[in-house]
Amino acid sequence: MKEKLKIGIMGGTFNPIHHGHLVTAGEALNQFCLDKVIFIPSGDPPHKNSKEEKIAEHRYLMTVIATSSNKNFFVSRIEIDRKGKSYTVDTMRELKKLYGEDTDLFFITGADAILEILTWKKTEEIIGLCSFIAATRPGYNISKIQDLKARLFKKTGNNTQKIFVMEIPALAISSTDIRKRVKENRPIDYLVPEGVSNYILKHGLYK
Ligand code: ATP
Ligand code: MG
Repeated sequence: MKEKLKIGIMGGTFNPIHHGHLVTAGEALNQFCLDKVIFIPSGDPPHKNSKEEKIAEHRYLMTVIATSSNKNFFVSRIEIDRKGKSYTVDTMRELKKLYGEDTDLFFITGADAILEILTWKKTEEIIGLCSFIAATRPGYNISKIQDLKARLFKKTGNNTQKIFVMEIPALAISSTDIRKRVKENRPIDYLVPEGVSNYILKHGLYK
């Protein structure tokens, strides 16, 4: 019998993508024996004006550049092309349709983002559609995830078996800090892949 396809989904704004994202995705691929990881840059909020909207294309292209050398990393335009705010549950539904109902989807997040996602509405439906891999991230308390699991268990039964905590080498890198560094003319070398740093420079982003 054919093995089930196991796909990791790495959602984010990726503004810009950095080595924290790449290490997280790489560790998930390895630790959970995934077939591939699909990076999904989020769409821009509808109220943004057209100049700002172009940042979505930049975010998408930087994600393509950063992932191009890994044969198991892919990038999807699904949320960018949908425009407006995307809900994880809609994206997961769409991916299930695309890859088949029996594909196992793993939503990969940092310790901060999982708390946001699983406190949104439709939590039960999302948990029915995919598993969660929450990576440790400097500055974020992992015990909050255990609290969240306990709360969800009370609400939904045994579904919390699908929330995994993943230890990764700590990288205190954030896109917020990178944008700040660029604005202040400080270096971002080694925090983002070289191609991403060149892209930011070439297009004068974050100035
Ligand atoms: P920003 O500072 O703009 O919020 P960010 O660095 O948090 O950017 P996002 O695009 O918001 O990056 O994050 C996408 C996903 O990657 C989230 O699930 C987030 O928790 C995770 N992530 C980001 N940076 C790290 C890191 N250094 N270690 C582990 N996970 C991370
Ligand atoms: Mg963030």
